[in-house]
Amino acid sequence: MNKFWERFFHLMTYITQGSSYLVPRAYAVLHRMHHTYSDTEEDPHSPNFFKDVFSMMWHTKKIYSGISNQTLAVSQKFLGNYPQWNFLDGLADSWGGRIAWGAFYVVFYYFFATEWWMYCLLPIHFMMGPIHGAVVNWCGHKYGYQNYDNQDKSRNTLPFDFLMLGELFQNNHHKHPNSPNFAAKWWEFDPIYPVLKLMHFTRIIQLRKG
Ligand SMILES: [Zn+2]
Repeated sequence: MNKFWERFFHLMTYITQGSSYLVPRAYAVLHRMHHTYSDTEEDPHSPNFFKDVFSMMWHTKKIYSGISNQTLAVSQKFLGNYPQWNFLDGLADSWGGRIAWGAFYVVFYYFFATEWWMYCLLPIHFMMGPIHGAVVNWCGHKYGYQNYDNQDKSRNTLPFDFLMLGELFQNNHHKHPNSPNFAAKWWEFDPIYPVLKLMHFTRIIQLRKG
């Protein structure tokens, strides 16, 4: 996408992820490491090395923070080709920035919640990013079926991934990491692929050929 749309979606990502925003540069490096080291000890989040999802996510958080704060040495091959917006990412990744979003969610509930139990949903809003990551990274390398032997434990958890909008096709994604369509068989469906095709058709993005 061009610079205008890149900035637009960078800002939209901040607004929608809010308290659990991930800096694109740090996330890109983390995800490239995951692909290179999938289900080995150097994988930042392989469920096969942890007794529960919490210890896996804590380990992932430490690596993510190390990349984001540049306190962790990262191989040169993982760097480059990601959006960078130092002012926004600095604000979004700070404790002040994250707590401000949390406070905003509480105020929003104060004005719009109609029952007391609705406040029990607040932790989900504070932690929506890590919850999404926990489901994808834990289930996607542990539960489901395999179309391909990728020399790892990646799996497709659901043939119609309505839950994580395509991200649970981990086995297909590790086989074809550059494909915008995470579904591979005729009976699988990635609900985000038609959205990407529409964005391509309207020239917001340009899908690579092949
Ligand atoms: Zn994976």
